[in-house]
Amino acid sequence: MTYTSLKSPENRDYTYILNVAHLYGNLLNTYGDNGNVLMMKYVGEKLGAKMTFDIVSVGDDFDKELYDIVFFGGGQDYEQSIVAKDLPSKRDAIDQYIQDNKVILAICGGFQLLGQYYIQANGVRIDGIGVMGHYTLNQENNRYIGDIKIHNEEFNETYYGFENHQGRTFLSDDQKPLGKVVYGNGNNKEDGTEGVHYKNVYGSYFHGPILSRNANLAYRLVTTALRNKYGQDIQLPSYDDILSSEIAEEYADTKSKAEFEK
Ligand code: GLN
Repeated sequence: MTYTSLKSPENRDYTYILNVAHLYGNLLNTYGDNGNVLMMKYVGEKLGAKMTFDIVSVGDDFDKELYDIVFFGGGQDYEQSIVAKDLPSKRDAIDQYIQDNKVILAICGGFQLLGQYYIQANGVRIDGIGVMGHYTLNQENNRYIGDIKIHNEEFNETYYGFENHQGRTFLSDDQKPLGKVVYGNGNNKEDGTEGVHYKNVYGSYFHGPILSRNANLAYRLVTTALRNKYGQDIQLPSYDDILSSEIAEEYADTKSKAEFEK
């Protein structure tokens, strides 16, 4: 299923083309997660790429060669349980896609399902596809809801979001978090980690949507996909040229922190 409403304008000269798969976009798209595909389109076009978007859902093949970016959003336990039944049919292709260093952004439910398993709020276990090591436990009568800020030491970047999840995720030894929690709950409220960064897979509990609130991460994802496809040494406009956001960042911090402390 193609998002015809997201077609890049025809009357421009594009240097590149990037094809995005929105995995189960008709089932997993809570809390504005769809805004992530809008941000990919915005950043991709600014970088000279024609962007295409397909929903790859239940019963569809996932063609790992066709796609340059995968977006896998969050959802309620019910929708996740439907997706979990179909996902094994795409498991090997997704695994190979990850091993090929291609880009994935997985939020909340999508992040959970790439891992080993997820225990729903009602205690029932859903198997993930186990292409990554993390696993997710439940908690009783509680959810982690609110504003969150993290810092990624490797990139020296800060990300802001809004989390709303009952799952408590624990990373495996070969996984790094997307960032360390500055304020908020993160993966499990215990170990100060949030999300995951493994190869070019970025997993997170951030809604918001994450890419609209964190243009630095959007730039990282889209430029990584372009370099994967067209070569590491292609010349691309810098972040500051197209997305400078110092003021936006300052604003996000003041606002989110106040919300969190309320
Ligand atoms: N249903 C999952 C949980 O509650 C994922 C939630 C989400 O995607 N927002 O943890």
